[in-house]
Amino acid sequence: MLPIPNPKTALLLAGLISLRTIVFADGANQDLPPGAHGGVEPRDKAHHGGGGGNLIDHGGAILTAPSNFHFVWWGDWSAGAGTQSLLQNFVSGLSNTSLFQMMDQYTRSQSVVVGLSYSKTDYADTSAPPSHGPSVSTIVSEVCKVVTASGQPDPTAIYAVMTSNFPNGANYCAWHSSGSCSGQTIQVIYHPNPAAVQGCSTGVYPNNNPQADSTANTLSHEIFETITDPRGSAWYDQNGQEIGDKCAWTFSPVPGQNYTNTVAGLNYYIQREWSNAASGCVQNLH
Ligand SMILES: [Zn+2]
Repeated sequence: MLPIPNPKTALLLAGLISLRTIVFADGANQDLPPGAHGGVEPRDKAHHGGGGGNLIDHGGAILTAPSNFHFVWWGDWSAGAGTQSLLQNFVSGLSNTSLFQMMDQYTRSQSVVVGLSYSKTDYADTSAPPSHGPSVSTIVSEVCKVVTASGQPDPTAIYAVMTSNFPNGANYCAWHSSGSCSGQTIQVIYHPNPAAVQGCSTGVYPNNNPQADSTANTLSHEIFETITDPRGSAWYDQNGQEIGDKCAWTFSPVPGQNYTNTVAGLNYYIQREWSNAASGCVQNLH
């Protein structure tokens, strides 16, 4: 179901919106909507570490460069320009970090690399975001709505739906999945606002912005998983844990500092990610 847009948006979009067939992805997690993958569990619930071994290649789709990235800002972001700017900066530089490039080991070919290309082409929808945890089809429909209003969906892209609220009943910090829009399969991330949710906050804010600083952490978790396991059919361990799940809420900050990684000139406090080459969680390539 599409959410009910506010009257202004409905007028703007009248005649442009068409409902598309949504295809659910396989797999489920008990705390996630059916079809969602690799959700970040709240800090006190995460089962990081311990067993599972290296990630196993199950042969399904992966994302390789360029992997275009787009934000979909859903809800009232009128007071969120600072948060948006910090997150836009983050995704603009993430692919230049050694942490990100560590994922080259999962492309199945020496000559193929991972990427994340952000051209600052975002989408906005000021209608009210879901008040309860949305289904995968709701998030895919939202992306399809805003993208097809001005063009065609990009099957190489990751669309991150950022709601200005945190929905009732959501027992996760974020998740990723995929679905069909205009005959193309697209990757989606759902990321609600963690600012008032203790279990989704890092508690360490190098940019003095709890919302942006906490979001960068869990968003990075979902981006890494979307690259290596966009359909839930590629890289995960024998327990079903993806690259970010295995290292969730573990950090190796720069000694004496309140950040782990510098991305596009700013400092962020983001979790480690699993490296098969290291057989462990890493904060940087070396
Ligand atoms: Zn995950």
